[in-house]
Amino acid sequence: MPTAYLDYAATAPVRPEVRRAMRPFLGESFGNPSSAHKLGAMAHEAVEAARAAVAELLCAKPSGIVFTSGGTEAINLALLGVAQQRQTPGHLITSSIEHHATLETARFLERLGWAVTFLPVDSHGLIDPDEVRRAITSKTVLASVMHANNEVGTVEPIDEIAAITRERGVLLHVDAVQSVGKVRLSLGDIDLLSLSAHKLGGPKGIGALYVRPGVSLAPLIHGGGQEGGLRSGTENIAGIAGLGAAAQAVARDAEAEQHRLTQLRDRLADGIVYTTGGVRLNGPPTNRLPGFVHLTIEGLDGHWLVKELSRAGIYAATGSACASGQTEPSHVLTAMGVARETAKGAIRLTLGWATTADDIRFAIQVVPQAVERLRSRRASGDDLAAEYARDCRTARQHVIAGLLTSAFSRLRRSIR
Ligand code: PLP
Repeated sequence: MPTAYLDYAATAPVRPEVRRAMRPFLGESFGNPSSAHKLGAMAHEAVEAARAAVAELLCAKPSGIVFTSGGTEAINLALLGVAQQRQTPGHLITSSIEHHATLETARFLERLGWAVTFLPVDSHGLIDPDEVRRAITSKTVLASVMHANNEVGTVEPIDEIAAITRERGVLLHVDAVQSVGKVRLSLGDIDLLSLSAHKLGGPKGIGALYVRPGVSLAPLIHGGGQEGGLRSGTENIAGIAGLGAAAQAVARDAEAEQHRLTQLRDRLADGIVYTTGGVRLNGPPTNRLPGFVHLTIEGLDGHWLVKELSRAGIYAATGSACASGQTEPSHVLTAMGVARETAKGAIRLTLGWATTADDIRFAIQVVPQAVERLRSRRASGDDLAAEYARDCRTARQHVIAGLLTSAFSRLRRSIR
């Protein structure tokens, strides 16, 4: 059965060059970068080469890059690292459409006595820079704004926001997990910036925080003093090497990919919207990530559509990976003023480095058919929940059967 992976906002397949870059560090080059011998030096070199590659992607100095366990940790380090430098609670400005990594850290700070402003957005998910200006008080220490939203793909006016925070002496952290390498990004007046390897075709469990020279942070993890004391713990060398290779690939292809993915994205959106009734494309028409198509489909539950598409070979999402499986409509759509019933019919199709024109042709054929199938089955009162539960049970049985078969063959080999 043909398949098309259209869930790059959740994670991207690992690039072949990334796998090649990681392999030695999972095998013969297993040294600890803190060791004084040759194996240690090789690991140290790999870490510094990756740091230079990430710095080059951001047009930053390598000394400003701190490796973390991913985007979530980078965001926590930025927000809590600034907060812990202070004796007294301050004021944080963020938006109502941030990723949960930011929202939950902001709520944690609220519990510690910080005041937090959650800025509203317009119907496209755009933050008005003037709202940032108005929200700043004498207590404001930090603003944290995402560069691009992970559900609808809205790209925020980050340069304008950064100019305001700089002018008012407020630190700015930017969650660029979805945007790095996808749209133009200039560090300009940004003080802190988070990124994650697995959105770039790198491995999961590794990311980085850019820290502008002169910005002072307190570490969250204490220990041996690795990463300039900001992130103790023996480094994930294979992961770091993978992030470095992904950063190089993204920097090399950025412009061409932006153009290619914008064309594919528009073909996909038009192909679905023009052939399927009751479909609305969300997000701004222009300031949207190249690989993002976010739709709301009338009279359908996006959750069931994702399952129906998966059966037909299309891997999509209802919104953010973390929110899938939740019955509440997404906080992003709610903040954009999308009605509760409409928000339930949300589906996100996201493209990336390995997406081909064939994937898009396939999706344009399959998505409208799946929508029609679900609509007619709903109309005839089919029990979709029972059927998908049966599918899950069958999938689980396949996994268990596979595990038992390999355990038996290992046992047979050991007896012989
Ligand atoms: N920020 C945004 C905008 C994201 O989309 C994600 C992941 O989906 C994260 C932060 C968290 O990154 P990670 O999965 O590396 O922890």
